[in-house]
Amino acid sequence: MCGIVGYIGHRDAHSIIIKGLQRLEYRGYDSAGIALFDGKDINVTKTKGKVSDLQDKINSENNTVGNIGIGHTRWATHGVPNDINSHPHYSNSGDLVIIHNGIIENYASIKKELSNRGYTFQSDTDTEVLVNLIEDVQKNGNYKLGKAVQIALNQVVGAYAIAVFDVKKPNEIVAARLGSPLAVGVGDGEFFIASDASPFIEYTNNAIYLKDEEMAVIRIHKDTKIRKVKDDKLVDPYVQTLKLNIEQIEKGGYEHFMLKEIFEQPSAIKDTYRGRLNVNKGIIKMAGVEDNLEKFLNAQKITIVACGTSWHAGLVAEYVFEDLARIPVEVEYASEFRYRNPVISNKDVVIAISQSGETADTLAAIKLAKEKGAFVFGICNVVGSSISRETDAGAYTHAGPEIGVASTKAFTTQITLLSLIALRLAKAKGSISNSDFKRYLIELEMIPEKVEEVLKSDALSKHIADIYKDVSNFLYLGRGFNFPVALEGALKLKEISYIHAEGYPAAEMKHGPIALIDENMPIVVIATKYGHYEKIVSNIQEIKSRKGKIIGIVTKGDTEVKAIADHVIEIPETSELLSPLLTTIPLQLLSYHIAVLLHKNVDQPRNLAKSVTVE
Ligand code: GLU
Repeated sequence: MCGIVGYIGHRDAHSIIIKGLQRLEYRGYDSAGIALFDGKDINVTKTKGKVSDLQDKINSENNTVGNIGIGHTRWATHGVPNDINSHPHYSNSGDLVIIHNGIIENYASIKKELSNRGYTFQSDTDTEVLVNLIEDVQKNGNYKLGKAVQIALNQVVGAYAIAVFDVKKPNEIVAARLGSPLAVGVGDGEFFIASDASPFIEYTNNAIYLKDEEMAVIRIHKDTKIRKVKDDKLVDPYVQTLKLNIEQIEKGGYEHFMLKEIFEQPSAIKDTYRGRLNVNKGIIKMAGVEDNLEKFLNAQKITIVACGTSWHAGLVAEYVFEDLARIPVEVEYASEFRYRNPVISNKDVVIAISQSGETADTLAAIKLAKEKGAFVFGICNVVGSSISRETDAGAYTHAGPEIGVASTKAFTTQITLLSLIALRLAKAKGSISNSDFKRYLIELEMIPEKVEEVLKSDALSKHIADIYKDVSNFLYLGRGFNFPVALEGALKLKEISYIHAEGYPAAEMKHGPIALIDENMPIVVIATKYGHYEKIVSNIQEIKSRKGKIIGIVTKGDTEVKAIADHVIEIPETSELLSPLLTTIPLQLLSYHIAVLLHKNVDQPRNLAKSVTVE
């Protein structure tokens, strides 16, 4: 969880680390800290709060000198967020200093053993236990830092991305990962360490992504040595050239990343289908699907595993796959799937969805599905992420970096990708007519233009947000393909404005939520043409009879809902199956504006993290 940045080279480490931590802020955190080697000592400054608080403290303590350093943003798992529990942590001798993302599950027993041997602990963290374990190993065996880290890591259970350095040998940083991402940026006689490439992309686009249970010994002006933590085998470092550029990770004139990402959806969706959808030739082609077509077509069922917004995209896909490809689909929370005993065999296909590709529960679900013999297909956005490596095959959404914690373009690009797969399977299976297939291809290709049109409702969404920003509850209703959109709309509002919201299939309203409706309750109803339109209009009438306030998402030109709703936001006409790609946009804008009007921290909502790499 959260962020790690390290630097070793000739530049001023302090400014690289602070800027890097700011780039990683989207991952969500509660504390931040830095350790710098000033040529003589390691100086640590750390604090509860934001990177800006850390910056203030650094200035007051005058701790800015050094060409070697490590920095951290913490998302507390062991011990409350406070200054002492913040990282970096020193070892007892003060020689070693560590930063760590993840959880050391067996920290309590190690702590007990170390305490019996006289070690003392300042913090409540599992991390401080790890740095002392490393020190203990180092002292007892007279080992170099790399070896001591390796031996210590073989004694711990859990997940980690760590960076450690030793005041006695300050030209070297040791980094390792298991379960939490870590990349090494390779510059000219200098190295960077970070949870993703954004902190170092302006200095180098050469990166080594450590794999699980790999550790790197990074020495100034020397080659980085990578080894397996378990068996000490040397690994040939694979240096990737990244295509990421600095503009992609900055706000580009928008007030928040979330707004930028909402507005990026037309191009993000295009990037998802680019090279895969060819309307002229009437084909859909994706290597991961093409190479495994038989597996999909012979699947007894498809199980989609995901968490949060990706789970909602999976629910949309359930409707789309079953409708087009006539393959039974189940959608499961990865966190539930991994701990029950699901009926999965080698006749099953499991699709795992995660924006970051690092979601801990989804990775565990993949592992379980593979153990049961299923063919596992991954859908993620971050290139080179764990999911892309752990699955049998997969496809990237190519949405570009998503930095706002509340997922927006990840959702629409996941739906786009899943729709492409469903259409490809339907074509191969013959469960769709040629004319319908062609029609869907044309419609899909037109979606970005239509999203562009929906984005013009931004001012209207803001106006509606202003009217309802002070309510305590919201209800979101939708049916069919748009039921998951109602869930997603409610989640967006909860995440960033902290207003309680629930999403429901519209007809379920009568079985409970209708009791909540009164003149203070705004209800967002997705009431687009076709599908269940008449039924939804009846649901709206039922709400109106109870004085609820209706915000309708309707198809352009609609008159019926307009006549009874308090507000309507129009979307262009499209097939019902693809309509979630449009109906979700006003809901994103509505929650965004409510949160901004309430002065909430839109890009880093409280308690949330962008990529949930712990259980
Ligand atoms: N488990 C460590 C702690 O609570 C690290 C948490 C993190 O990933 O930031 O300090």
